[in-house]
Amino acid sequence: MNTIEVKGVSKTYQMGKVEVQALNDVNLDIKKGEFTVLAGPSGSGKTTLLNMIGVMDKPTNGKVLLDGDNISSYTLNDAAEYRRQKTGFIFQQYNLIPVLTAWENIMFSLDLLNEGTRAERDEKVRQIMMDMDIFKYATHRPDEMSGGQQQRVAIARALVKQPAIILADEPTANLDSKTGDNILKMMRQLNKEKGVTFIFSSHNQKIISYAKRVIWLVDGQIDNIEER
Ligand code: ADP
Ligand code: MG
Repeated sequence: MNTIEVKGVSKTYQMGKVEVQALNDVNLDIKKGEFTVLAGPSGSGKTTLLNMIGVMDKPTNGKVLLDGDNISSYTLNDAAEYRRQKTGFIFQQYNLIPVLTAWENIMFSLDLLNEGTRAERDEKVRQIMMDMDIFKYATHRPDEMSGGQQQRVAIARALVKQPAIILADEPTANLDSKTGDNILKMMRQLNKEKGVTFIFSSHNQKIISYAKRVIWLVDGQIDNIEER
């Protein structure tokens, strides 16, 4: 299951007296296990659309359904619960907690979920750190790691709770192209092996070329959908 339907979603931001239409009647279905990129120039609405799917924000018009359930009408509590249980978010700026080590940053996500024993949580964190090849940085704080290492920690943090959906907003934009490539390959592999749905945004042509489905956004509207 875990089918996402975006139905007639528009989003208008009020900037003083000026209205900015970030999304304009977007319609889109995303099925479980898809590896979809939201592509388009800066300002085209990519982040806004990810935020609607992640229920970080609500549409001005239209709705987002998960398996038929209107998640965009959720209360703040229900939205937080949905994010905690179903989604992992990866940000362009990594957004790790600066005072926590790599290990603690990843564990934090499991502690929020509050499932399983301490020993089971320890094992999950250890395993994902091995998978992402970051175990050697377990005791490092974010300022003691490179951008690529921090982003791998951030990905591990999103993945460790085995969410159904991973949302990633320009996850490689701050990385050099080789590191970005490796991160993308890792995401693709997780998608293939574990069937995790990935929805990420990018305006980088090379990154876009990895995706199986490309949603091109222009001025808050879907301009084209490319299936490969
Ligand atoms: P992208 O991620 O593709 O660069 P965004 O979704 O961030 O695009 O933004 C789409 C449009 O909405 C832009 O014109 C942007 O300036 C505007 N916008 C985004 N967030 C806000 C906000 N919180 N307040 C006002 N305008 C916003
Ligand atoms: Mg953006």
